[in-house]
Parts: sequence; structure tokens; C-alpha cells
Amino acid sequence: MQTNIFGYDVAALKNAFQAIEGCQSYRAEQVARWMYQRNATAFEEMTDLGKELRQRMASVFVIQRAVIINEQHSQRGDTSKYLLAFADGMAVETVVMRHRYGNSVCVSTQVGCAMGCRFCASTLNGVSRSLTTGEILDQVLFADALLKVSGQGVNSIVVMGSGEPMANYQAVVDFIRLCHAPYCLNLSLRSVAVSTVGLVPGIDRLAAEGMPLTLSISLHAADDVTRSRLMPMNDTYPIREVVEAGRRYATATGRRVTYEYTLIDGINDREFDALNLSRLLKGQLCHINLIPVNPVPEQGMTPPDAKHVQRFADWLEAQGLSVTLRREMGGDIKAACGQLRKRHLEGREAEGTGE
Ligand code: SAH
Repeated sequence: MQTNIFGYDVAALKNAFQAIEGCQSYRAEQVARWMYQRNATAFEEMTDLGKELRQRMASVFVIQRAVIINEQHSQRGDTSKYLLAFADGMAVETVVMRHRYGNSVCVSTQVGCAMGCRFCASTLNGVSRSLTTGEILDQVLFADALLKVSGQGVNSIVVMGSGEPMANYQAVVDFIRLCHAPYCLNLSLRSVAVSTVGLVPGIDRLAAEGMPLTLSISLHAADDVTRSRLMPMNDTYPIREVVEAGRRYATATGRRVTYEYTLIDGINDREFDALNLSRLLKGQLCHINLIPVNPVPEQGMTPPDAKHVQRFADWLEAQGLSVTLRREMGGDIKAACGQLRKRHLEGREAEGTGE
């Protein structure tokens, strides 16, 4: 069986190509550029490599890419969501968002999720498996190719699709380093945001990587009773420990941490919630991103109305916190994590081919 090299960096390619007779080490970067910058999926496309070398490579290696099996577009046309399937039939969602200031792609890091957050669709069926570096990269390069058709490209990446990045740590970090590599996307690390449910050891490990990434921490509540109710992981890493880890991250990297706070009617949107939140985060190099919850039918949680969302933002600002309201993009295509995939799974179950 041939080895799939999509997702290998140049060092890994050099190592792999040692198995091929007469293959000089500079070929590694050449092949990387073909795969990552020119979207080659077969060695025969790599015309600046000798024919014989291409044949030898093709007998040992393959370049495996995902296939798109569904897509949805928002009415405004600013958000598109794609369902990508891998060789084993597992599928994940990738979202492409066109902003005024550039294009961003939201990638998944696992098939499903094990974190169990009560408002999230990705976790309804648990986690099937983690994605490889290549499978995460595939989503970005697919989006980039798509945007190139209109002379654009990917300007930023948010690691906020389904899955918990810290539960697939090495693949995620290798993926980010690849996006930064000059032979791949050459993307600034400052243009990459990683969102975590709050796995403290992962946050500390990321802080030590020396990468100026934006860290987003999903907080969603300012007291442990409410947060544990919404996010079971809070029993392992309670609020105080998560916020301390956020503080350490900001100190180590000099980067402002974003706290994600999804507003759920009657659960975490009261004035005292805003006060608790301000007390918790005051003085920290951080920023709060408010997201009205995107309702998942099974979970029965609804967002407060727009006026109340604004009021909550005002309460926080009055306490001196920096707040943004997440612009609701693609609400009409249900851009909340996992909802397109959920429908796909339901369809497969109906056909008797469930995962
Ligand atoms: N596992 C990571 C990243 C994936 S989720 C994390 O927990 O951060 C990305 C963000 O979307 C998280 O802040 C998550 O809590 C939020 N989210 C998930 N489902 C949502 C929903 N239905 N409505 C609003 N935000 C949601």
C-alpha cells in the first residue's frame, strides 16, 4: 500500500524520499510546492521532475485529498459551508467566510467532538476520530483554491470547527506550522486563531510553542455552576484555572486572549452574569466575543433578542471590558458547528449506512 504524503512538511518529505533511489533532497520542497501551492494531486503533474522519478514516486506514495459531498450558501453570499469526506467516508464541515477585510476559513480538527457542550451540535454523536495534519490542511487549501477563482485567497484561519483542537494537539500545531511555511500558504501566525473549550495543559503547551497565535477560550459562563451545566469539561478544568491559563498565555505571547461567550436566554445573560464576568476578567489582556447561541433543535436553547444582546454588551463595556458582538454570518444556513454534518449522518442512518 502506498503512503499518503499530503500533510507532510519538507523535513518529513526529505525523510520519506530517502526510500527512493536517486531522489535528491531538494526534491522535497519542489513536491511540497506542487502539492500545497499548485494543488497537484498526482506526481505526473509535476513536470519539472523527470518522468522516471515521478513514476518511482507514484509507486510508493499517493497524494490523498478529500472530496466535497455537500455545500450550502448563505443568502447574502458571504458564508459558504462545505461538507468534506475523507477516504474512510468520515466527513467534516469547513466554513468559508468572506469579510470586508478578507477571507477566513473555519476548519474542523476532529470528526465530531467528545467535549459534550450542551448547546453544540458537533458533540451530539461524540467523537469518531481525530483528523490528521493533512486532513486539516486539506480544508484550508480547498478554500484557498475556491477563492483563487475570483483572484482572492485565504487571509485568516479560525480553528473553530467541530472538534477540540487541544485534544488533537500535535496534528493542529503541525497544521498551523505548515500554513505558515513559505512553500505552503506563507500565512502569518497572527492570522490564525485557535479556540479551545479550556483544556489547561493544552493552553500552557501552546503558550510555550513561541507562536503568536490568537487564543480563543470558550467561557460561556462566569460561575462554575452555570459553566458545568453548559460544559462538562468545567468539572475537570474549572473557571478559575482556565482564566489563569489564559492569563499565562497572554503573558507568554503578548497576545490578547479572546473569551467566547455564547448568550443563552435565561441561562447566562442576566445582569449579574455580566458583573461576574467583569470581575473575573478585569485587568487581563483580553477581549470578549459575544455570540447569540445558534439554536440546535435537540437542545432547546434560544438566544436573547438583539436588544438584550446589546444590553449585555453595554453592561460589560460599562465595567471597562473590551467587547465585540459576533456578526451573525450564515444564520440562514445554520453555520453553527456540526449542523450540516448532522443532517448528513441522519441521511445515512435513514439509508441504513450510519457511521
Ligand atoms: N472545541 C473548541 C472549538 C470548536 S467550537 C471550543 O470549544 O472552543 C467554536 C466555538 O463555537 C466555541 O466557542 C463553541 O462554544 C461555540 N459554539 C458551539 N456551538 C454553538 C452554538 N450552537 N451557538 C453558539 N456558539 C456555539
